[in-house]
Amino acid sequence: MKNPILVLNCGSSSIKYALLGDDSEGRVQGLAENLGLDTARIKHQDINGEKVEISLAGATHQWALQKILNLLSEYKPRAVGHRVVHGGRQFSEAVLVDDNVLTEVKRLKILAPLHNPANALGIEAVKNMYPDLPNVVVFDTAFHQTMPEKAYRYAIPKEFYEEHRIRRYGFHGASHNYVSNRATNLANTGSQDGWVTAHLGNGSSLTAVFDGKSLDTTMGLTPLEGVPMGTRSGDVDPSLHIHLHRTLGYSLDEIDTILNKRSGLLGISGISSDMRTIDQASSEGNADAKLAIEIFCYKVARYIASLSCALPTFTGIVFTGGIGENSSSVREKILANLPHFGIEIDDNENQRLVRGAEGAIHTKSSRLQVWVIPTDEEFQIAKETKQVLGL
Ligand code: AMP
Repeated sequence: MKNPILVLNCGSSSIKYALLGDDSEGRVQGLAENLGLDTARIKHQDINGEKVEISLAGATHQWALQKILNLLSEYKPRAVGHRVVHGGRQFSEAVLVDDNVLTEVKRLKILAPLHNPANALGIEAVKNMYPDLPNVVVFDTAFHQTMPEKAYRYAIPKEFYEEHRIRRYGFHGASHNYVSNRATNLANTGSQDGWVTAHLGNGSSLTAVFDGKSLDTTMGLTPLEGVPMGTRSGDVDPSLHIHLHRTLGYSLDEIDTILNKRSGLLGISGISSDMRTIDQASSEGNADAKLAIEIFCYKVARYIASLSCALPTFTGIVFTGGIGENSSSVREKILANLPHFGIEIDDNENQRLVRGAEGAIHTKSSRLQVWVIPTDEEFQIAKETKQVLGL
């Protein structure tokens, strides 16, 4: 592998990793999960696609990282690219980690309490083990720093923005950046393209991207805003919190849990947060599962229509993420909610493009293009890491 870059995505109880080289020889990748529990383990895949599972009962982040780096010991990474969820207003692009950057990543836990501390832990663990290896941070929010003020400000008193940085930030930046760029290359229209990129997975967000720049997105101050997700509600009436508290006596923490962990597809279906399970139940006649899919598809379509307002020209829609890449029926249902856009779909292509396949699903006479593009956040993070280091 030539000039490998290690990409790390440290969550609160997991570490996703990938080693990518300059060549297209393939990558080494894996996932350490259940960290801190007896069931902690690493699922590792080598460059030939061979898989192993290693049990690491009770492993901490530091221990798991040590093991991951041992598994990668035959390669010499040139740098590590860390995915960091929140970069606040300060970071509009990837940066090399120094003490100030690390302090900022930790401080921004006020905006991402679950994610930024885990991201910082990963950076510190690598710094301890390999003090000479450069670390670069790639922020989920950075891609959206090009949004105009009309898109990122909330209509609340301005001191909350000026003194407390309360505004819309947006997330999934590496994914929206990657798929919009890829769509532009594939479509090859020869002019500036306007895409609505729909990253639909456990977490879902959509972004209006014009000429490679994010102009608006569905997630806001936190990743709760926007469309319904696996367990997150997406948009609700802001007065819902007060109503739940005043009339039903729920505390703020309980409301937070309801909206983040018990809502979305899980909340509506009462069955699962997983689209495959819901799809199966719906096809067996479960009315709640059917409704969950209907609401999801309708809300995604509504956001596609509204995000088109941000685009000077609307070239088309890009589907990505676990649901966007794999569920032809969800794609079809979303597009059926957009009858005014002159979209025509090739049904065979729509059904064919699943499980990692990439391509267009619109017909020649369709007014908008529609692409299915498997996301590759690791590639994007490695690319930005190399750009920062001039490699
Ligand atoms: P992600 O968070 O991007 O990994 O996406 C996870 C979501 O993708 C889950 O809701 C899965 O059920 C969904 N998904 C994966 N494969 C399929 C499929 N073949 N059909 C429908 N949903 C799928």
